Amino acid sequence: MRGRVIMTELKNRIMKAETIVVKVGTSTITHANGSMDYHVMDKLVRVLADLRSDGKNIVLVTSGAIGVGRFRMHMTERPSSLPQKQALAAIGQVSLMHIYSKLLSEYDQIAAQVLITRDVVDVELKKQNTYNTFCTLLDYGVIPIVNENDTVATEEIEPYFGDNDTLSAVVAELIEADLLILLSDIEGLYDKNPKCHEDANLIPVIYDVCGQVIDGVGDTNNSFGTGGMKTKIEAAQICSRAGIPVIITSGDDPDHIYEILEGKDVGTLFVPHKER
Ligand code: ADP
Repeated sequence: MRGRVIMTELKNRIMKAETIVVKVGTSTITHANGSMDYHVMDKLVRVLADLRSDGKNIVLVTSGAIGVGRFRMHMTERPSSLPQKQALAAIGQVSLMHIYSKLLSEYDQIAAQVLITRDVVDVELKKQNTYNTFCTLLDYGVIPIVNENDTVATEEIEPYFGDNDTLSAVVAELIEADLLILLSDIEGLYDKNPKCHEDANLIPVIYDVCGQVIDGVGDTNNSFGTGGMKTKIEAAQICSRAGIPVIITSGDDPDHIYEILEGKDVGTLFVPHKER
């Protein structure tokens, strides 16, 4: 009974969410060869632009820069050295921003590029500066598009460190977002990796991501993504402690975002530990 009350209250909060961070993974916005999937990007941008027009504050955290850089440089092999990955991220980031900005302007919205490192929250002055920038951009009605500054930081591009999952949680906490949506190439968190196990079942709700032992969580198994479910769970833990609900769902159909905001059951919902 109590679980049902909590869920109803949480769904109400989600439906009223004003500030929403959406993170999109590499595997969602790029094809297998690393080129941008314009069709998915366009659908995603249209939904985000529409929500912005409806008065929501939207922040997009995007991955994909290394894959796009690799495609632009006609590299078939995955780069092994860190400087190569950093250089490819710098190349791909320009192309990604170009397309996001172009698509958003078609829907009459303005994009801003925010490149940050996760340690911005560890130093009070940096944290305040970053917070101020986000607040001002959102006041302007602009959509900040965030990525890690891969030239100076390497956490996100080192294997298994994150693919921006935890960065998106840090941003959500910093700007006191009402909701974090992680768009991936999969419907949500399963009890085991469905790419390897046909009998895997979707887990619709995780009530205690910080306390519960979650089995069957694996890494990515595509050559561009880096995080897999491990880093998504870490992101959900950060948000749980900050009182922010997190939903993992498939980015193939960005209309899922509307369904989430209508209170429908979509993907995997992580119930926050703390009340806001
Ligand atoms: P993204 O680029 O969207 O961040 P990732 O490739 O990093 O995506 O992570 C999603 C992948 O995680 C899935 O495609 C799947 O292969 C893998 N995975 C491992 N364990 C699980 C699990 N328990 N449930 C769902 N996906 C899982």
